[in-house]
Amino acid sequence: MADKGTGHIAVIGTGIAGMASAIGLANAGWQVTIFGPHPSPLQGGLQLAPNGLQALSDLQLLDACRPSLTPLDAIEIRSVRLQKILASIDHRAPVKRDYGSFHRGTLLDILTTRAAQMPLIHHDTRMVTACEEAEDALTLICEDATTSRFDLVIGADGKDGLCRSLIAGEEPARPSSYIAMRAQVPATALPPLFTVPRTQLWLGDGYHLVHYPLQQGTLVNLVLCMARPRQEADTARFQQLDGHPYQSALTSPDVRWVETPLPIAETLPVWRKGRLALLGDAAHFMPPHLAQGAGQTLEDAASLSKAMAQVTARENDAVTALAEWAIQRARTVAPIVKRAEQTGKIMRLSGPLARLRNMAIDIGGQSFIETWLQQVWQPELDK
Ligand SMILES: Cc1cc2nc3c(=O)[nH]c(=O)nc-3n(C[C@H](O)[C@H](O)[C@H](O)COP(=O)(O)OP(=O)(O)OC[C@H]3O[C@@H](n4cnc5c(N)ncnc54)[C@H](O)[C@@H]3O)c2cc1C
Repeated sequence: MADKGTGHIAVIGTGIAGMASAIGLANAGWQVTIFGPHPSPLQGGLQLAPNGLQALSDLQLLDACRPSLTPLDAIEIRSVRLQKILASIDHRAPVKRDYGSFHRGTLLDILTTRAAQMPLIHHDTRMVTACEEAEDALTLICEDATTSRFDLVIGADGKDGLCRSLIAGEEPARPSSYIAMRAQVPATALPPLFTVPRTQLWLGDGYHLVHYPLQQGTLVNLVLCMARPRQEADTARFQQLDGHPYQSALTSPDVRWVETPLPIAETLPVWRKGRLALLGDAAHFMPPHLAQGAGQTLEDAASLSKAMAQVTARENDAVTALAEWAIQRARTVAPIVKRAEQTGKIMRLSGPLARLRNMAIDIGGQSFIETWLQQVWQPELDK
């Protein structure tokens, strides 16, 4: 690792992207200030595939995270209409894969605790309101109008944040006509099938439901993706579940669904301008269909850490390293975002096309799906 001298990087954002990138940069020897309020508790679960878990390991975080990871043995793709398993991707054999789920809030807590323990990281809880380019630095202006200068700035402030607009313009991420209904339910409130340590994907007519256990099986994470209903009534939202074998459990009052609009998937072609680079959802928003939002974010942070470990601020090679990292990551992530979007289109098919899809998966789709996922799950540093 090169001596960073007085090199100082600002990270804007206290979500998974902000915390992970601050930790990665401090691991690489940089002094880091994270800007943003203390993170509010995150709800819901997320799955991490081998690439996301490898990134946690590269960030020296996997040992701290492992006790909170719920290992998942397989992904089962089920047909609602036929009520059978169409394909099963086994994580235990013939190839053993590290795969599991986290509560999003628990993962963020672990990152926040680690960041607080690192002497090179300072947390400034103010919001950043502007960012101005100076000759040899970037100046951040905070909500109280004070300013501070940094060698580099990482914009990890999410898809609606300031930094994305500084690089991509003011246009906000566009909403799509699809929604995800999410719920976390105590395992005891659902039939036993929901607690088996697998990701279960039910392909319905125009919708799909994914569920997997969280928190060592005490909770179940449910995500139901469908077109935005025309009527606001809850009954309209769940009409699509007609015919699902567990319809009554899923629509019981014990399951408190929260609606999340799904913006149109997007990865910016350019992630950097001068000394500012984007990371996490600020750079790439993807729908949850490949469960890669957090995984790619962790890969962003791990690869940035590696890129910045060998450079110094003094020689001004840090901007070059940041530029090369941003080009490489934008190239790597773009096809994954596209694949997540395509996967969503296939999962949402309805009518005869949905039946054809199910037949194709049933007859010979397993090896195709395995290959499709394997390419996504390959860690960035191996690509
Ligand atoms: C409801 C929901 C469910 C999800 N489920 C999954 C899943 O199942 N699997 C998966 O892989 N991914 C999932 N994701 C996506 C995944 O959580 C994100 O891709 C990942 O956490 C990266 O988020 P982020 O840190 O880039 O952005 P965010 O979480 O949006 O964090 C941005 C942070 O920036 C801060 N901020 C914003 N503006 C400023 C400013 N001007 N100054 C200072 N701070 C600022 C905010 O306070 C916030 O803390 C989900 C996301 C959501 C919202």
